[in-house]
Amino acid sequence: MDDARLYDDDARIAALHRLNVLDTAAEKPFEKIVTLVRTVLAVPISTVSLVDRDRQWFKAQRGLETQETPRAISFCTHTIQQREPLIIEDALLDPRFATSPMVVGPPHIRSYAGIPLRTPEGYNVGSLCAMDTRARRFSPADIAILSNFANIVCDELELRLIAQVDHLTGALTRRGFVEQAEREMVRSRRYERPSTLVMLDVDHFKAVNDTYGHTTGDQVLHQLAKLAEATLRPIDVFGRLGGEEFGILLPETGGDEAMIVAERLREAIAGFPMQLSNGATLKVTASFGIAVLTPTLTSVASWIEQADTMLYAAKANGRNCTKLELVD
Ligand code: GH3
Ligand code: MG
Ligand code: MG
Repeated sequence: MDDARLYDDDARIAALHRLNVLDTAAEKPFEKIVTLVRTVLAVPISTVSLVDRDRQWFKAQRGLETQETPRAISFCTHTIQQREPLIIEDALLDPRFATSPMVVGPPHIRSYAGIPLRTPEGYNVGSLCAMDTRARRFSPADIAILSNFANIVCDELELRLIAQVDHLTGALTRRGFVEQAEREMVRSRRYERPSTLVMLDVDHFKAVNDTYGHTTGDQVLHQLAKLAEATLRPIDVFGRLGGEEFGILLPETGGDEAMIVAERLREAIAGFPMQLSNGATLKVTASFGIAVLTPTLTSVASWIEQADTMLYAAKANGRNCTKLELVD
């Protein structure tokens, strides 16, 4: 019976957060869908709503002025509790919604059709909605169209995730990492919190490939990534920026603390016997560069570049060490 998943909100929110989509910038596929829904169903409002713990956040919306609303007043919090579409022909006649601020005040929603957005694991993370400011019927054909669009939304959520997670290591791809770093840059500046970016590059990795073969090289990268993820905190962000080069985003962390984190990981890597498929083990080392987020850094690119400069200094210093930028 899969319906337990409708009531396990913690697991549902974990599934939503795994999608890595909350608070990201507008993206064309979702924009197109809400635009189409408005036209095809002749409604003034359409949203791709994702239901977070206490809010609904719109990945895309047309006809509303806000990016999010409290969850408690949302229609979608009801939609995600069922597998079937939720259809409200007249909100004023439905005790769940008749006094809702979204109904009695702007945007004056009077009718609603929402299709649950279900992840492959079976969790409803949000809904695709069509809303009108007048009471109206939604025909079976309307609901069928909306359901098809909802399927496309679910596919798009999976596709953007595939583009964000590196197949070999399970780390974020460069694209996924940069997206997270952009969000972290905004968050850390808004709340005036410290944030630090660390880059690491495996030392003499070409020699590993040359000696043991590319497949073994891949196995080493996989194990190194698992070791890093196990060493870091859950809120830290780990990404593969290029071949044997990784980035770590450390929210709420200043330079001194980042140095401790990087050194701990550096030592963990240097001491870890990587398992080879022939049963033997191999040890590798990595060099680290650290860049604290400062006001002079205007983009994620410049933040990464700063860490890369320090990484280069660590390489020049003999490798298997960590360099932190000196802020004047
Ligand atoms: P340094 O200490 O200066 O970083 O030396 P290095 O040999 O690690 O640096 P270099 O950039 O010369 O070589 C990186 C190597 O990483 C070359 C490339 O073949 C290898 N590499 C990049 N991506 C992958 C991958 O996905 N799998 C494997 N097995 N090797 C990779
Ligand atoms: Mg290298
Ligand atoms: Mg490299």
